[in-house]
Amino acid sequence: MPVTFSAPSKDILFAIKHLSGIARPFGEGIYADLHQDVLEAVVDEAGIFAEHEIVPLNIIGDRQGARLEQGRVIMPEGWKRVYDAWAQAGWNGIKAGEAHGGQGLPHLVWAVTTELWNAANMAFGINPVLIQGAIDALEQHADERLKGLYLPKLVSGEWTGTMNLTEAQAGSDLSALRAQAERQGDGTYRISGEKIFITYGDHELTANILHLVLARLNGAPEGTRGISLFLVPKFLVNEDGSLGERNKVVCAGLEHKLGIHASPTCSMVFAGAVGYLIGDENRGLNCMFTMMNSARLAVGLQGVGIAERALQQGMDYAQHRIQGGVAISLHPDVQRMLLTMQSLTMAARAICYHTAYALDGAAKGETPHQRQQAQEMANLLTPIAKAFATDTGSDVASLNIQVHGGMGYIEETGAAQHYRDARIASIYEGTNGIQAIDLVMRKLPQSQGETVRAHIQYLRSLVARIAAGGSSAFDQIALRLAYNVQKLSETTEWLLAPERTQHEKLAGATPYLRLYALTLGSCVLAAGALAEGSSQRVHLACFFADNIATATTGLGLSIMEGSASVHMPF
Ligand SMILES: Cc1cc2nc3c(=O)[nH]c(=O)nc-3n(C[C@H](O)[C@H](O)[C@H](O)COP(=O)(O)OP(=O)(O)OC[C@H]3O[C@@H](n4cnc5c(N)ncnc54)[C@H](O)[C@@H]3O)c2cc1C
Repeated sequence: MPVTFSAPSKDILFAIKHLSGIARPFGEGIYADLHQDVLEAVVDEAGIFAEHEIVPLNIIGDRQGARLEQGRVIMPEGWKRVYDAWAQAGWNGIKAGEAHGGQGLPHLVWAVTTELWNAANMAFGINPVLIQGAIDALEQHADERLKGLYLPKLVSGEWTGTMNLTEAQAGSDLSALRAQAERQGDGTYRISGEKIFITYGDHELTANILHLVLARLNGAPEGTRGISLFLVPKFLVNEDGSLGERNKVVCAGLEHKLGIHASPTCSMVFAGAVGYLIGDENRGLNCMFTMMNSARLAVGLQGVGIAERALQQGMDYAQHRIQGGVAISLHPDVQRMLLTMQSLTMAARAICYHTAYALDGAAKGETPHQRQQAQEMANLLTPIAKAFATDTGSDVASLNIQVHGGMGYIEETGAAQHYRDARIASIYEGTNGIQAIDLVMRKLPQSQGETVRAHIQYLRSLVARIAAGGSSAFDQIALRLAYNVQKLSETTEWLLAPERTQHEKLAGATPYLRLYALTLGSCVLAAGALAEGSSQRVHLACFFADNIATATTGLGLSIMEGSASVHMPF
């Protein structure tokens, strides 16, 4: 039978304290308003809600799925009750500004809760990710009237939000978008077109749904510079906040998917629906980009959540399954799998929290310069967090099946569901290939390479600290880490060099992102082990340095010598 999920509160608090890179204790600096006891209470309470309320829906959601019946999207049993309880408990608004009913808590706290909802149930957890995306977009770009009318109900969770970017011909390439927006004389717009793959595009969990839609105005420039962002509510909203008539937007179909069956993935048809401009005309992509860091981080956290879930199941199974007269957890090859699962999960969590910390610095740093530096750090880390953590989700879920042997392939254990659910996170919110390209083409060149160099310098300082750790274990780890950081530095300079061709950079992007993640992960795991000193943490850091991060050698070769053969001569 599938094991239940136990919120990993201890590992989460350890990761926040020792792996996220935070410079000063809670109650000071950017976390002046966050005290350790509040943080611990939030982690505990979120863990309890996830374990008791959201976990029981996971298998039901997978088996029943969302259904489209006579134009209505029907959610699986229990979904509405738990969604209502979750929203009423205030979980939706924890990061949103207090002006519209949120709690204004830091990104780091929101990151933890996002991980927990998704560990409990990815099909449930993706909905808050989308709602938060809509909140971010409105908070940052909408005018005061729209904010006042729409944000309070979005923040409270009484209404949900969606992101409508993708069209059949426009996936990774949004410049190919065709949805149209027509100006009306009264300041509103009429939106027409078809969007595909829209998560939670329709449902009856809430009385209204706010669609954020990318569309092109008549006569707008070609390509990405002619795209605008609109708010299109399912039901129009009167000036007093009450619901008016149904807007001209419908769900025309639901996709049948590999995983996250309970998350309705909708084809949406906009037939002259009333829309309201968010931000300036033709600046829609810029509006989307400002909220992309936290949406991409959230998808990375889905990867961490599902990895944790699969890890717990694999550990439990391996301790109970007897083969060769002993529990399989005693066989070295199974131990290798379990340690790989455990250390990758911890590294992915660390990288995601590191990114959340940078986002907090960008929002709350003391000086404009500090905020700017933190923003560039968040920009740099976001594609790494998204891609590495989601790949980790898939890899760990796959290893969990392997640990189970044949039983992993049988649906009853639930191992297969984690694997199926995990797979989407490497695809949506910008495929992982697109993340790697973003890292190399846009993030490395920030401030003429000084942001990435400063981060590498920070990693060097961690290695120096580990080298002074005073034990043979740390001596050995430090040697390996010094090599990794050197490889990261060499490959970074190689990619930044002016003579690099476009092809060399694009072909090397994916191995470079992985090299970066393994180097960062190995450094922070070791620094955390040094800080806490427990033998288990030291052991895990050694394992990662000796068995996982050693891949940097091959990755370095792929980046700097492999691009010539990355082409298909047929
Ligand atoms: C379950 C699900 C939920 C989704 N939810 C939403 C949602 O809520 N809102 C929304 O707007 N969209 C959503 N999407 C769409 C999702 O974001 C896209 O599927 C994704 O961005 C990839 O686009 P695509 O499917 O057209 O693939 P393509 O863009 O056709 O990509 C196919 C492959 O080619 C690669 N590729 C493409 N272009 C390049 C390039 N320039 N360089 C290198 N490699 C390239 C990609 O990395 C990928 O491996 C969802 C999709 C699914 C399946």
